[in-house]
Amino acid sequence: EVVVNRIAAGEVIQRPANALKEMLENCLDAGATNIQITVKQGGLKMLQIQDNGCGIRKEDMEIVCERFTTSKLRQFEDLNSINTYGFRGEALASISHVAHLTITTRTASSKCAFRGVYSDGKLKEPVKPCAGNLGTQITVEDLFYNISTRRKALRSPAEEHAKVVDVVSKYAIHNSQVAFTLKKQGDSIADVRTPPASTYVDNIRAIYGVAVSRELLEVNHEDSKLGFTMHAFISNANYSIKKSSFLLFINHRLVDSSAIRKALDTVYQAYLPKGSHPFIYLSLEITPQNVDVNVHPTKHEVHFLHEDAIIASIQTAVEAKLLGSNS
Ligand code: ADP
Ligand code: MG
Repeated sequence: EVVVNRIAAGEVIQRPANALKEMLENCLDAGATNIQITVKQGGLKMLQIQDNGCGIRKEDMEIVCERFTTSKLRQFEDLNSINTYGFRGEALASISHVAHLTITTRTASSKCAFRGVYSDGKLKEPVKPCAGNLGTQITVEDLFYNISTRRKALRSPAEEHAKVVDVVSKYAIHNSQVAFTLKKQGDSIADVRTPPASTYVDNIRAIYGVAVSRELLEVNHEDSKLGFTMHAFISNANYSIKKSSFLLFINHRLVDSSAIRKALDTVYQAYLPKGSHPFIYLSLEITPQNVDVNVHPTKHEVHFLHEDAIIASIQTAVEAKLLGSNS
């Protein structure tokens, strides 16, 4: 059974960046305003994430790593109006099957913190009291130590690190009210650092550079008939970059949609030289009944109801903005 669980877990968590994305979403669900990440060897040796969110109660520490344990789904109707990231209770369980997992956490009503060490979904020994700040620190060590096929499928630590940085950068921009720091262990300079309560543009500047931040257009668009709103920062018609930057959030989850990518590329094609790309940060809020963003951790591609019409509407809004800025 342990082996079957391990293989299943390796399907859910395929690389350090997946594990980190799940843990980041947990921090945000917990109401954190400060998230600090430390990475060792691209996250393979260690991924540590410290937040100042609500913490986990001692009595829940026993079960947080069991499959389908979630504090986020109270009623069946919740499935139609989920406003937290998680609800399957699969992430921590999966991670605990393929890594050494330690949780140190303190809630506001507790005088001390508690530490639990987990493997294969269970506590290895009773939870112990310890010193610790309000919030939660989760340490994932030796990811895939027990599943060599998964380990072999990974890129170099440097490439895995780049993927981790990419995920954190995107969440940092989307959650501009939250301060993020990401460091390699032992480094004094952070790879990602955003100040608390900053603006989107501040964060884009901090992460993607001054050049792009000077060339941004803000788009606000609402289509009540189709049931969606859009908030975006896109580079203007004169600005292009070599490497494509496409940040898409739907209902606050980082996802991908090749249909939206293509549609926007088409709009920019009229302006940009061949082989160059725009910078696009796009946040969509779609009626929850029309989209399931709680996709499997490895399937980022999202589809939604009225997709063609919504994409056409997005295209029109972007086109109008670019035309306006170019005249
Ligand atoms: P889900 O997010 O789908 O509920 P997870 O496996 O990601 O499932 O997490 C399991 C549970 O552990 C969560 O429902 C939550 O109660 C708790 N938890 C995990 N991470 C944190 C955190 N950083 N702060 C507070 N609670 C957390
Ligand atoms: Mg979760």
